[in-house]
Amino acid sequence: MYIHENLKEVQLKIAEAAMKSHRLGEEVELLVVSKTFDADRVREVVEAGQRLFGENRVQEMLAKVPLLPDSLRWHLIGHLQSNKVRKVLPVVEALHGIDSVAIARDVQRIAGELGLFPKVYLEVNVAGEASKFGFTPEGVEAELEELLELDRIELVGLMCVPPVGREAEDSRRYFVKLRELRDRLELRGGVKLPGLSMGMSGDYAVAVEEGATVVRVGSAIFGRRG
Ligand SMILES: *Cc1c(COP(=O)(O)O)cnc(C)c1O
Repeated sequence: MYIHENLKEVQLKIAEAAMKSHRLGEEVELLVVSKTFDADRVREVVEAGQRLFGENRVQEMLAKVPLLPDSLRWHLIGHLQSNKVRKVLPVVEALHGIDSVAIARDVQRIAGELGLFPKVYLEVNVAGEASKFGFTPEGVEAELEELLELDRIELVGLMCVPPVGREAEDSRRYFVKLRELRDRLELRGGVKLPGLSMGMSGDYAVAVEEGATVVRVGSAIFGRRG
């Protein structure tokens, strides 16, 4: 039952980090990242009451979802290719890896055809890493108006994956950067972007202190991926 204990510990640390930064624990949702773990492992987390899960690959997600209860909520947290949009939209509540206007337009068109209204987080490449997907901070500012015209998408906020650091504190400045970018977009665009999807197993407590509304945690719950 180590998975149940890990889940409890993560929930507790989220609550502590929220308290430390004068936030309410309920403002932060734990998204359990189940990539690479099979449906039996996921079921253990479900038995402990968890409902929100994330996968980064469409194929793996589509194979896993039918094996688990209908009551679960699924988010795609990875990069989305245009040829996968039609398959993934009926399964997910939200997309965290929307990283270009082109893919946002594909989601808009197909969501319209399917009668869906997905929530979207725009992925921002906060450290300008060549190896990572994501809008540049300047890019999101420049494209915001165009993105807001996509009426089949509910733009809820921003998402980032900072560079792998040696310690959790290394991520803090990137989380601050994402939050400040969000504040600027809200001011300039006259919109509400309440969602900040940031923080993983190594740094979710710091992310909560800096305003995360969703933390995406996998290995701290399931153990290391093989
Ligand atoms: C795998 C993954 C996570 C979870 O990583 P852990 O370190 O296992 O918590 C979070 N976000 C994204 C985008 C991922 O691909």
